[in-house]
Amino acid sequence: MRPDAVPLAEHLTQASYLAAAALFILSLRWLSHPSTARRGVAAGVGGMAAAILGTLLYPQIVGYGYIAVAMIVGTAIGIPLSKVPLTAVPQRTALSHAFGGLAAALVGSAKYALWLPEGELTTFRTSAIAIEVILGGLTFTGSLMAAGKLQEIVPTRPITYKGQNLINLSLLAIAVGSAICLVARPEQWWLFIVILVLSLVFGVLLIIPIGGADMPTVISLLNSYAGLAAVAMGFVLENKVLITAGALDGSSGFILSVIMCRAMNRSFTNVLFGAFGQVQAGSAAGEAKAVKSGTAQDAADLLENASSVVVVPGYGMAVAQAQHRVREIYDQLSKRGIDVKFAIHPVAGRMPGHMNVLLAEAEVPYDALVEMDDINRDLPQTDVVVVVGANDVVNPAARHDKQSPIYGMPIIDADRAKACIAIKRSMNPGFAGIDNELYSADNTLMVFGDAKGVLGDIVKSLTGEAGGH
Ligand code: NAP
Repeated sequence: MRPDAVPLAEHLTQASYLAAAALFILSLRWLSHPSTARRGVAAGVGGMAAAILGTLLYPQIVGYGYIAVAMIVGTAIGIPLSKVPLTAVPQRTALSHAFGGLAAALVGSAKYALWLPEGELTTFRTSAIAIEVILGGLTFTGSLMAAGKLQEIVPTRPITYKGQNLINLSLLAIAVGSAICLVARPEQWWLFIVILVLSLVFGVLLIIPIGGADMPTVISLLNSYAGLAAVAMGFVLENKVLITAGALDGSSGFILSVIMCRAMNRSFTNVLFGAFGQVQAGSAAGEAKAVKSGTAQDAADLLENASSVVVVPGYGMAVAQAQHRVREIYDQLSKRGIDVKFAIHPVAGRMPGHMNVLLAEAEVPYDALVEMDDINRDLPQTDVVVVVGANDVVNPAARHDKQSPIYGMPIIDADRAKACIAIKRSMNPGFAGIDNELYSADNTLMVFGDAKGVLGDIVKSLTGEAGGH
């Protein structure tokens, strides 16, 4: 090897890290709008490829054999994971965070074991390793639990017991206390084991009191823990791209959790400790109010006579995979000169951007998608609102019922439109488990059935295929 070969490789590594960091930042920028999201994904993939290639050029790599095996195993696991249906994306994301947390905890443990006999555990290194192992360990087991709850392999309801928060916080405090002692006396290896075990146990205990439906918010919080674990790992390995990517990951996960909490009008503490989703006595089984129900033909008649229509999609549209039928209705009504818009609530469905992704899949034009605050201004002048499998995000109780668990959550004011068509299978409640007075309002027509089927019938009526129209 020529004497100048090492510096050149080093330069190339640093240059590719710089390119990777720039691409990650651009990726986040582009991912924030549907029209540039594809470019954002490509930039993220490009950034990761640059980071991996740069690392492979690293002059101190001892052998490529293990790396090749790890990449083959990772690819073999990653390819099937990339093919899961959209409804399973939250649990797939949780699994990715679990792997990230595991990687951080393993790297931290390996570095501790390597540096301990060599006496190279400085205060800085031991602190970074302790943070990495605590965050990595709890992210690993916490994310596995979150994925299990979403996949319904573990019970989805919150499991609570007396003194739970105290026990959890005490465990965390013992782990942090042990970490401080370890930094002072790095040769006390048993403290390292205590930290590792407690962080793994804490991850499980943190998640069990949280209801399955709150998992998307928790997952984005775990995303930010995984990011912070990567930052700590970057300090341990003195790797700049890990520090940058981890910081971006950590902060974007945190911002997303804040946005989701705000959109549900819930605090972090309520999501983490509120045991939301427990069966609420009485609320769902209140006295039955009379509702006006009609057929797909009735709905089609209402729609045809409207000049403005707003569609409010919700979780039921995702369950029914009805986005393509929604698109057909959009086409039919637009063809008749009717103004059709889509009202997007930030937490409609079960993951951030759920409705945007489904509507984009059905190629609904982006400019027809309107955010909650903007559409609410137009709703009192709107002729017909079509609520497709949405419930909580259009529940007027959020505005006036102080006893309601969703009181204060911003909603789409579907009840303020001149008429409302609500499509769902039954009078069952949605995620929050509460009745919705929108369904019994005078200007609401319920059309019961699976959203895909009902919308398909409405399309048939609009195209005249249903006969007699
Ligand atoms: P929702 O309140 O959960 O209501 C969904 C409705 O869809 C149900 O009432 C259900 O009624 C109906 N439905 C289910 N399958 C259907 C089908 N095949 N065809 C027709 N209708 C169907 O949904 P949402 O209004 O979208 O509100 C989302 C909720 O999730 C909010 O409370 C939000 O806070 C919470 N959340 C969201 C996120 C997020 O990131 N988006 C994260 C955590 C929590 P039937 O059973 O009668 O059909």
